[in-house]
Amino acid sequence: MICEICLKQQASDKHHKYSQTKLNKKLYKDFIHHEDNIVYLCNGCHLHKSIPKWTEIEFCIHFDIIPRTKSGRQKWPNFTQNSKNQ
Ligand SMILES: [Zn+2]
Repeated sequence: MICEICLKQQASDKHHKYSQTKLNKKLYKDFIHHEDNIVYLCNGCHLHKSIPKWTEIEFCIHFDIIPRTKSGRQKWPNFTQNSKNQ
C-alpha cells in the first residue's frame, strides 16, 4: 500500500478521516473502520501534511446515515423525514 498523499512512500499509518475517539467508536462502530473513512499514509505525511478530515456531518452524509450524537442531529438539515427507515 502506497501513501495516498505523496504517492511515493510505503504507507505505514492508517488515518481515520472522522477521528476514532472513544465516543465515535462506540456510536459508529459499524462505520468508523470502513475503508472510505481511512486514508493510508506514510509516517512523514501523517505528521506534516494537512490530511483530509471529516466532521460528523460530512461522515454521515457520506454514509447516508443520521447523526448519532445530539449535537450532530441539531446540525442535520431536515433529512429525518426522507431517511431510509420508512
Ligand atoms: Zn507520504
